Amino acid sequence: MFFDDDQMIALHGGEDPAIQQRAVVPPIYMNSLHVFPNMASYLGVDVEKEYIYGRVSNPTVHLLEEKLAALERGTRGLVFSSGMAALTTAIHACCKAGDHIICLYKCYGPTVEFLKDICIPKLNMQVTFVEATAEAVIAAIRPDTTLVLLESPTSLVLEVIDIQAITRVTKARGIRTYIDNTYCTPLYQKPLTLGIDIVMHTLSKYLGGHSDVIGGALVCQDEQLGRDLARCREFYGGIIGPMEGWLVLRGLRSLSVRLAQHQQVAMQVAEFLEAHPRVARVHYPGLPSHPQHAIAQAQQAGSCGLLSFEIDGTKEDALRVCDALRVFQIGVSWGGFESLVVMPMYKKTAEQAAQCGTGQQLIRIHCGLEGVDVLIQDLRQALAVLD
Ligand SMILES: *Cc1c(COP(=O)(O)O)cnc(C)c1O
Repeated sequence: MFFDDDQMIALHGGEDPAIQQRAVVPPIYMNSLHVFPNMASYLGVDVEKEYIYGRVSNPTVHLLEEKLAALERGTRGLVFSSGMAALTTAIHACCKAGDHIICLYKCYGPTVEFLKDICIPKLNMQVTFVEATAEAVIAAIRPDTTLVLLESPTSLVLEVIDIQAITRVTKARGIRTYIDNTYCTPLYQKPLTLGIDIVMHTLSKYLGGHSDVIGGALVCQDEQLGRDLARCREFYGGIIGPMEGWLVLRGLRSLSVRLAQHQQVAMQVAEFLEAHPRVARVHYPGLPSHPQHAIAQAQQAGSCGLLSFEIDGTKEDALRVCDALRVFQIGVSWGGFESLVVMPMYKKTAEQAAQCGTGQQLIRIHCGLEGVDVLIQDLRQALAVLD
């Protein structure tokens, strides 16, 4: 059964208690293959529709794919063992040697590194890295451009890019667009409806939501593209396991209430930081002072719990602030129940940080579900080390 309401999709979409022994929660199909009643049904199998082998498809994984496709308003969802498995498969499915790719400097670090370390030197692809503006992306288009890789908001300084300003041009030229939609989740941004061809998600962040699973997803509308992506996943073998897929199905059930809470807390934390005398800049798309706040308001239904800020001080001062935090734990990733802090630019040069639109003292925090008073109190006492 499918719905057009996101909450109904997340909770009940694609499920049918009648075919799952009336269990309210769908089972985990923990199997590597499916058997056939006779040779005729085995020989006549429809490889696109029927289950045969676990590297190609699995009923638990398929249910998750159906829900993600419906949430993104796509026709095909594909789930992978990590966000990076999804990204690398998408590039292999869309590009060949000699092709030209456009990517934002500020895309997720390992995405940029994969292009630099594998696609350019080993696969003979050409890549132009650009600023996170529609104008810069459009100016970089060449006759041999086949793919544009986007992320909005970006996950370090939360820059927002005007998606439709790009897809209006790329569509007319037959260039495919891909966007990392991990920050917003399908609930707060639906890029396929803005003309994007492939939406990518890391399930390891909000969709899983409990910091206990690694996974990734691609969703598209074009059916041939969906088949190409599925075939590539089959070759590279990056499908998620049934247990991990089931954990993400569980995460989806509480996604909307978790996100609402993360957003509400992050907004208050961002306002607190913006008013703090030792904080120079706060990067959060929900703040009216955010440079692309108007675009964010137009294309996003909300912002999440991730934000970053620069203190008025050196990177060593920022390090002392981070070490003084007690509730925010030091750790990469985000999107789980817990509050986290990292300094993504500490080990970069000042020039590299400037290219990412920030300084070495950048502090990135994820506001978890501990409660707004606890988090603001923790930040207030940690910032006091600067007094
Ligand atoms: C974590 C992350 C990824 C990578 O996902 P993995 O599941 O760790 O491979 C990609 N993009 C963004 C924005 C991320 O935060």
